[in-house]
Amino acid sequence: RPRPLVAGNWKMNGVKSSAKVLTEIHAGYTPGLKAKVELAVCPPATLVSLLSYASVGSRVAIGAQDCHAKESGAFTGDLSAEMLADAGATYVIVGHSERRQYHKERDVEVCAKAVAAHRAGLTAIVCVGETREERESGKTLSVVRKQLRGSIPVDSNSRNLVVAYEPVWAIGTGLTPTVADVAEVHALIRDELRRLVGKADAPKVRILYGGSVKPSNAAELMAVENVNGALVGGASLVAADFLAIAGAY
Ligand code: 13P
Repeated sequence: RPRPLVAGNWKMNGVKSSAKVLTEIHAGYTPGLKAKVELAVCPPATLVSLLSYASVGSRVAIGAQDCHAKESGAFTGDLSAEMLADAGATYVIVGHSERRQYHKERDVEVCAKAVAAHRAGLTAIVCVGETREERESGKTLSVVRKQLRGSIPVDSNSRNLVVAYEPVWAIGTGLTPTVADVAEVHALIRDELRRLVGKADAPKVRILYGGSVKPSNAAELMAVENVNGALVGGASLVAADFLAIAGAY
């Protein structure tokens, strides 16, 4: 089993004073917890540099929430994976459902961003997940399979790829799938990974569950087969909650 990863996605939340949340996470990241689980915090891009400096020596990794596919150029407002790496990030989330929804990102763009992440030496956290309509019409497995095949680059391996399964209807809603539903989708993802990264490496790729993870449901979700950690939104803004989720391992 791979070492689990609990990653916090701060989304569009956080200012310089939010560095104190990271300080609290450092304080609670005891040797016992370190031995069990890897932690990452993905703040807004404005804080990647500040939090990376604050994290030196702590072993809490810093990630970004998106990147452009190109290395540099005339793309006003965008940030390249190389810039994020230069600022201290080691992870970058790509294809989050909020990017797919509000910025019309399709699998082909998500894949190009993951390629860029790899080119810059970052680990891509590639997000997939079905909408409520897709689940209700029984399309969950086919939707997730298509997203995986379209969004994961061929150069992926267990060191530069993390997959996050985030059912869109579970994000920020307090709703979560049943453990049986999580197990079913994560098994499908593991199966697809065998095709995408090969049989030997597929078991080592971390597959995170995301969507309304909180201290009260973390243990149940993290115990599901093929769940190798969590991608945490709202609860990652509170150090005690984030640490309690990590402690569920
Ligand atoms: P919540 O944990 O707030 O539901 O958000 C999940 C998510 O989108 C993490 O990327």
